[in-house]
Formats: sequence, structure tokens, C-alpha cells
Amino acid sequence: MRIKQLPPAVANQIAAGEVIERPASVVKELLENALDAGATAITIDIMHGGLNHIRISDNGSGILAEDLPLAVAAHATSKISKLDDLYLLNSMGFRGEALASIASVSRLSITSKTNNDATATCLEVRDNVLELGPAARNTGTTIDVADLFYNAPVRKNFLKTEKQEFIAIENLVKRFALSATEVAIQVKHNGKLVLSLPEAQSEQGRLQRLAKVFGQAFVKEALYFEVDHGAMRLSGWVSGAGCQRSQNDKQWVYINQRMVKDKLLYHAIKQAYEGILHPGRFPACLLYFTLNTREVDVNVHPTKHEVRFQQPRLVHDFFINHLGQALKSAARTVDSRPLSSTGESINYTLKECPPVFEADVPWILLNKRYGLLFKRGKPCLVDMQAVYYQGLVERLRKQALPLAQRPLLLPFKYPVPANASGNLRLIQEALEPFGILLKIDPDFLKVLTIPVALPQLDLRALFDGLLTIALPESARMMDFLCEYQFFDARQLSTEEKHEIYTIIEDTGWEISPFCKELTQEDCQKWLESFA
Ligand code: ADP
Ligand code: MG
Repeated sequence: MRIKQLPPAVANQIAAGEVIERPASVVKELLENALDAGATAITIDIMHGGLNHIRISDNGSGILAEDLPLAVAAHATSKISKLDDLYLLNSMGFRGEALASIASVSRLSITSKTNNDATATCLEVRDNVLELGPAARNTGTTIDVADLFYNAPVRKNFLKTEKQEFIAIENLVKRFALSATEVAIQVKHNGKLVLSLPEAQSEQGRLQRLAKVFGQAFVKEALYFEVDHGAMRLSGWVSGAGCQRSQNDKQWVYINQRMVKDKLLYHAIKQAYEGILHPGRFPACLLYFTLNTREVDVNVHPTKHEVRFQQPRLVHDFFINHLGQALKSAARTVDSRPLSSTGESINYTLKECPPVFEADVPWILLNKRYGLLFKRGKPCLVDMQAVYYQGLVERLRKQALPLAQRPLLLPFKYPVPANASGNLRLIQEALEPFGILLKIDPDFLKVLTIPVALPQLDLRALFDGLLTIALPESARMMDFLCEYQFFDARQLSTEEKHEIYTIIEDTGWEISPFCKELTQEDCQKWLESFA
């Protein structure tokens, strides 16, 4: 695609701000440009921590000679052309600002050749004066940034030593290298090769790259996991209780291949590790999260490190649940007869994460769903989720309709399947008394409110359910909704724990469908599986 100046309406929508703070930020922008250009090999030459010189060459598509002046113009980009493109981004860049900003604080030159050009062209920018001339190189682009901040002494004063600036660059390149594993990367500092990563196409190659970047020990110790859930996918490597870092410098997270440092996700990681790490310690983890590009807005922060999710709570819980589960499931798994109708079996390991003994109620949590409770000293396996749902349904049945509702900060959008339109009005009417207000747009269902009593409603799953299963009759609706409330036994409040305990006591242990007293045989079987 050619480079075009963005119309003012689009340019004004773009989160503005300073993107070039230090040499590492230059490197980040240039690497992302190379990736967007489809490069499969990138070389990075740094002199004196990047303060004197940064040169990045790639074998990507190149820039047409006549487009070169536009490449350094503000708000000129080949990656988007209209407002809607901002919501469907599949490129790293989109603001058309990076090269313009770099050019304004350095002596920049770009040498580039496309497959259509016979020869390469070089553009030099010095104090806002552009000069074009012939050059020699193969297809691809070389960007040369000299004397960074030569004309911005204040910013120069904020820089650290050459060594520290180079460490920042090296870390940045390593982070990038784990998001673009199919790209070969070489880094030189003051002429000396310091990092060389061949392109990694195979699983083996990717593991080798991971070992080079994160260390062999991590690859050996860490647990690999992957979960697919609707349009969300999370995979990666996580350290266990054996790794307790004093800094959070090894929590690398990528959203749709983009490296981010997002507070919401860091918070979720921290919570997933609660009870596994000592307070104030950090894990090492490498997490790849992908979701529909419409669900995430990367246009909120100038350096694109922070993002905004359409459904922050959903993403937060998704991270906690699946990360938590991954941490608990591992080498040793124990199957037990299913207790509930869903037939879900219990997977957990005693080695990986010691169960938490709750002081205020006599139980031991095994995973997010099951726990061990003690009935006059005898252990019983309990499906806490089933008990919780029963309690919830009973509590809600006592409430008069309409249920109290809570507006959502950001309306939840659910894309409407083509053939579903007939049903939507019925669903809208059926949900209204339960505190869920819907607006029906041509392409989307918008959820404006949720019931106060069900703050953790998984709306996506709910609508998937409503549209695939026949709409429940009004009397059944409460039960139906309760099933879509997220449950995690590890996050219960003390009150909720007592409620669960009371329900079991009231039902009677012997007849409760949620409890199974463990026999000697059961324990024997478990012991054998641990041997
Ligand atoms: P953005 O990446 O947001 O579009 P930049 O200022 O980083 O903005 O780059 C401006 C334009 O220059 C890009 O849209 C792209 O067309 C072109 N460009 C920059 N770097 C490269 C590269 N390494 N290879 C090919 N084209 C590039
Ligand atoms: Mg860019």
C-alpha cells in the first residue's frame, strides 16, 4: 500500500504524545516498521548505547522512491486510511508519526528499494531539509539515526549511561524477538555481535530462541499451556513456585503479537499467582494473548504499551482463571468420578502448588471448583461451584422482579449472527425483568446493564447460550442466568464461604448431591497415583 497523509478527522482521533523518549524507543518503532513491511531478517547496529548511532536494516517490502518524503511527514502512513481501520488493525504501526518524530530530533536517513524499483534511493533529513539521491542496496530498507536529541538538550539530559541505554535496547530487542520468531535478528554493539537469533520456523527453533532469550533454566522449569475459549486464546510459559523474582522484569505479555505492559493484565497475573509466590515476589512468564481486534483498542497510549479492552473484566477473569488453572495442573493429575452432571474431572497437583488451608472455614481448596471439607474429621470432596450456584439461585428467587440493574461503563457488544434477528426481540423482552437491558443494532447487540446480583456474568457465553439453546421460559430464566456467573472458589469472600458451608450443612451431608465422602479405597487409589 502507498503512503498517504491521513485526513484531519482520522489524525485527530489518534492518541498523540511523545513516542521517542530514549534510544530504545527508536529501536522499537523501527523494528515494528520492519515487521509491518514483512521482513524476515533484521540487523541492528548500535554505537555507544544508541546515543551516537542506530542503524536498522531489513529485507522487507521497501518504500517507493516517490513516497520517501511522505514517510517522514507527520500523520502519513500506508497502514490505515479511514477511521474504521483503527478498529481492525493488523499492523503494529498506524499513526504515521514515528519517522516524523525521529527525524525531528536526529539526523535521519532512509535508504530503500522495492521490488519495482531498479535501484535504491536515499532520503536524508537534516534540520527539516530533505534531500533525495541514488543509493545501492537490495530490496528492503535501512534506517540510520545519528546524534539522537542533538537539538533537544533537555531530553538528552534525561538519558542514562551508554551501558544502561544499551541494556534497554537489548531487552527491547529480546522482547520483540519472542513476538516475531520467524524473523532472523542480529544485534551489534560498537561493531561487536552481541545477539544472533536465526529465524525460528519449527517448534524446536522457537524453543531454542526462547532458551537464548529467557535462559535454558526457564525453558526446563516452566510449564507450557494453551487455552482456547471462543475468540480468546492464551498460551505461553509460566514459572512455578520455584521461581521467585524480586523484579517484574520477566513478565512478558503480547496481545495480538504486540508487546504490551498493561496494568490490567499484570494485575491479573499477580492474582493468579496469589498463594504460590511470597508476597512482593514476581514470576517469570511469557504470555501470548490473542483476541478479536475489535475487542481491544491499542490507540490509547502514545507508545502503545497500554491498551483498552472492550470487556476488561472478562479479560481479567479469563487471565486469572486460565493462568491459575495452568499453574495448578501439571505433571501429576488425579481423576476422580465426576460429582456433578457436567462430568468435569479434577486435575490438580500437590507438588506444583500446595492447597490453601482456609483458617476461617474447615476446608482445603483443591482448584477453582472443588474443595475438601471435613465432616466430623472425615474428608469429603465437594463441588463448591454447584453448591454456590444453588445458593445463588435460591437467593435470587426470593428477589422481586425486576432485578436491580447496574449500567456498564462500556456497553458490551455482541455480534449478531446472520440468522438470529427474529429471536432478538424475544431475548430482549425476556431479559429485561432480570436487569439486562439490550439495544439491538443492525450488526450488534449492545448490553447496557447487568443485574447487580450477578456482577461476574459472562455475557459472551450467555448470548452464545441464548442463541443456540431455546430461550428458557421465564420461570427457568433465573437458573439459566446463574449458570453464567463466573465462579472461582479461590476468590470467594468469607461470607460466601460460610454460605456454602451452611448450604451443605442444611442439605445434610449424606444426601447432598455435591459431596462425596472419601473412602479408604479412594485415598488408596490416589496414593498409588502419586507413588
Ligand atoms: P506508521 O508505522 O505508523 O505507519 P511510521 O512513521 O513509523 O508510521 O512510518 C511511516 C510509513 O513509512 C509507514 O506507514 C510505511 O509505509 C513506511 N515505512 C517505514 N518504515 C518502513 C520499513 N522498514 N519498510 C517499509 N516501509 C516502511
Ligand atoms: Mg511505525
